[in-house]
Amino acid sequence: MAVGIGVAGAGTVGGTVVRRLVEERAVVTARTGLDLVVRRVVVRDPQRVRPFKLPDGVVSADVMDLVTDDSVDLVVELMGGLEPAGTLVLAALRAGKPVVTANKELVAARGPELVQAASDGGVSLLFEAAVGGGIPIIRPLTETLAGEQVNRVLGIVNGTTNFILSSMAESGASFGEALAEAQRRGYAEADPTADVTGADAAAKAAILASLAFGVWIAPDQVHREGIDRITVDDLASATRLGYTIKLLAVAERTPEGVVARVHPAMVPLGHPLAAIRGATNAIFIEGPSVGELLFAGPGAGGEPTTTAVLGDVIDAARELLAGAQVAPRIRFGPGAVAGFDAVVTRWCVRLDVEDSPGVLAQVAGAFGDAGVSLQSVWQDGRGDRATLLLVTHAAPESAQRAAIEALRALPVVAEVSSIIRVEGES
Ligand code: NAP
Repeated sequence: MAVGIGVAGAGTVGGTVVRRLVEERAVVTARTGLDLVVRRVVVRDPQRVRPFKLPDGVVSADVMDLVTDDSVDLVVELMGGLEPAGTLVLAALRAGKPVVTANKELVAARGPELVQAASDGGVSLLFEAAVGGGIPIIRPLTETLAGEQVNRVLGIVNGTTNFILSSMAESGASFGEALAEAQRRGYAEADPTADVTGADAAAKAAILASLAFGVWIAPDQVHREGIDRITVDDLASATRLGYTIKLLAVAERTPEGVVARVHPAMVPLGHPLAAIRGATNAIFIEGPSVGELLFAGPGAGGEPTTTAVLGDVIDAARELLAGAQVAPRIRFGPGAVAGFDAVVTRWCVRLDVEDSPGVLAQVAGAFGDAGVSLQSVWQDGRGDRATLLLVTHAAPESAQRAAIEALRALPVVAEVSSIIRVEGES
């Protein structure tokens, strides 16, 4: 039986989705028994040449056509951004049409409202492609692992920053040079702000945290630090100590509530995340019963992302044809979202200090007074100055910050050159 598909957006992802729906229609039918027919495509500029062939009149410019056209049974939103995507998705769900989207920005900003609208309409809202591109991660979290009490999610969820950090570590390129190379290769946008400031990763971390713990976490509740201040010296320090630097998204349960954060972190070279190079994404899920699960693969790109979108389209079409009221796959219950101070972390601190007797004791004393103990110290003397690299044991963020304030007040400390958290070691 035919299912009418309407697609909003025919760019990198949408263009590939429509092309594959048209070209692979018979294959999908043979494999699933579903006949997926593209009935309408909405773009900004209907005159532009597209990578697919459709009958005249199918491509138009008004997103609400997807809601009002009765031949469209299922809506696929691939425009991106908050509007008009938000208006379209809500209107489609309220009209009883299942929605598939890859729009992490929209899902992160308006998740509960959209999930409620899908629940009220008894239809599916699926967004596998919104996090991790082609990596199956949303369905494993919400369905396969529905019986696991997940306690931590840790991952590399932004390919652009991972490409930049990998280039800096491997070729000694500066942040600016690595960013320019990422732009040249098409991994980074002309305006890379959302990537390098961690905003894109924070939206994904908010979605992962909300799904993993069933407590809604908005993007502005995710502690966020970007990679724009990471220098070649930081990467050299990391290498010296047996680490590399990654932009990590971390979501975890603490006694005070769920905490989500995005920041650069030193990861031991032997950790599986250290081996994730270039634009690849990888996500660890930790639970008491399953232990550690690792999902890795292409985090973006037209083809891998399309595979994730098509999986959702087939899933939603199956439910539509079953004719049943769909039970919500996602529920958000009450639960606390804790502040960043609740997190216990380890820090690697680089100091520029006077090279004289007793300096190390003063520095260790500043940490000790704040309740932070040191795991390792590395020193490199340069005449009357020295570089100190200190790795702490785990301590609350508030204690680590107090230690840094005390260090800044020491006359023997010329500069706190960098602070990077350490993750991936027990
Ligand atoms: P894109 O290449 O910029 O394409 C956007 C499409 O939406 C274009 O076809 C554009 O029409 C259309 N559009 C934009 N505003 C519109 C409006 N007001 N009315 C009608 N059509 C409109 O974007 P993309 O890279 O495919 O990304 C689409 C979504 O997938 C985003 O939510 C993104 O975050 C997500 N995603 C992308 C990737 C990836 O690798 N690119 C990976 C994972 C998730 P015109 O063509 O006429 O301009």
